[in-house]
Amino acid sequence: QWIFLDGEFVKKEDAKISVYDHGFLYGDGVFEGIRVYNGNIYKLDEHLLRLYHSAKSIMLDIPQSKEDMTEIIRQTLQKNKLEDAYIRLVVSRGVGNLGLDPASCANPSIIVIAEELAIYPKEFYEHGLEIVTVATRRNRPDVLSPKVKSLNYLNNILVKMEASLAGVSEALMLNDQGYVAEGSADNIFIIRNGVLMTPPGYIGALEGITRQAILEMAEDMGYDVREEAFTRHDVYTAEEVFLTGTAAEVIAVVKVDGRVIGNGQPGEETNRLLRAFRQKVVEDGVK
Ligand code: PLP
Repeated sequence: QWIFLDGEFVKKEDAKISVYDHGFLYGDGVFEGIRVYNGNIYKLDEHLLRLYHSAKSIMLDIPQSKEDMTEIIRQTLQKNKLEDAYIRLVVSRGVGNLGLDPASCANPSIIVIAEELAIYPKEFYEHGLEIVTVATRRNRPDVLSPKVKSLNYLNNILVKMEASLAGVSEALMLNDQGYVAEGSADNIFIIRNGVLMTPPGYIGALEGITRQAILEMAEDMGYDVREEAFTRHDVYTAEEVFLTGTAAEVIAVVKVDGRVIGNGQPGEETNRLLRAFRQKVVEDGVK
């Protein structure tokens, strides 16, 4: 496996970064997780836009243009001979001294990892997930915008650990006011009284690429779609609940904090949306 690291391809075993990289020292950097379906890079433009916006927000200048970055990703896929893959694109502040000030970091580090897809276990899709609400809250939009997909994922890691401690694989994260925000690395949707809802950006979720794709697709399919704030009560009393993300695609949730959702099986509409999503992914990618 070949990794793109600062301008060259190196073997996985040799792909190492400096201990002085501020991405390592402080989580100072941004990243994307991108999926490749049958050689098509899914929603690449949207991912690059989010990456460059995240970088701009934290005043990190990415020297490469989006076109350069596209080429780097393509080359990484070619080099690894991958058709169905998961790509991790990382831009860190780069190597500096031990001080916090990024002024000591001359160049950002650019890393592209392309891997064979680690598909979620089939049971997750067949039986759905059980999730619990955790204590860790989404960071407030006025502190560091949740729209920034930064390398600082401590909150999300704590969410994942809290879920594991509770014996489940995913969690429900609330914002500081107690509204439902998202999962550890997935957006959340509910269908309640026939309306498909997901929390709006200001609640504090990441603006997921899959979330946006589902919103548009569902609208086209005739669903009543709303971006609206909701609470745990609305989740408990929903007909269907599901999570969306690049790796997970669309995955049903069948139990939340001990409350069974619907009949305890992945919902019909959830399955319908997953099928439609999988049909559409190949069309929406770029070679
Ligand atoms: N929320 C968080 C915190 C994430 O890290 C991710 C994954 O990227 C998502 C949601 C889902 O976003 P996407 O659909 O772009 O993968």
